[in-house]
Amino acid sequence: MSGSRVHVWCPERGVSWVAGVEPARCTEPGHRHQRHEVHRHRDVVLLPDRTPVTAVSFDPVEPYARDRPPDFALYLDPRWRPGWPHDHHAWPDLGVPDDASAALAALAALLARARDGEQVEIGCLGGHGRTGTALAALAVLTGEDPRSAVAWVRARYCPMAVETAEQEEWVASLPPATG
Ligand SMILES: [Zn+2]
Ligand SMILES: [Zn+2]
Repeated sequence: MSGSRVHVWCPERGVSWVAGVEPARCTEPGHRHQRHEVHRHRDVVLLPDRTPVTAVSFDPVEPYARDRPPDFALYLDPRWRPGWPHDHHAWPDLGVPDDASAALAALAALLARARDGEQVEIGCLGGHGRTGTALAALAVLTGEDPRSAVAWVRARYCPMAVETAEQEEWVASLPPATG
């Protein structure tokens, strides 16, 4: 991780933006906007079976600057529009996927590419809630116990990973990997 920015979150409208970098996406004076200092992630995470996955946050100044572009990426926020091959999976900010089996299928497809030797990337905006929850699910898919997967991702990736109790419960409810 490197650098640090302030993300502003409007709970009334469900929008977020980066202070001083992007125009405010809500300027209602009556709202209680929450400001979070966030750091930037471009981190290789080794899953329990040693498969590498790069977890990224969206940096609005230079989101697509890479030493080497990934072979494939899965993004959980529609703001990502890179030039390299990628997929989007709809996953609400500060939430869990509407369809768990579809989310797991998208993550399993990313995992299959990584196991085939492709350099893969996963990201949302801040890189903590959705990305952290997805990394925990990838850990479950590669052998971690669902009940310890949140602790696993906080130890191996970032202490701020997985942001809400609902996200923690979602991970704990995942089916354990078989075999
Ligand atoms: Zn607002
Ligand atoms: Zn972090």
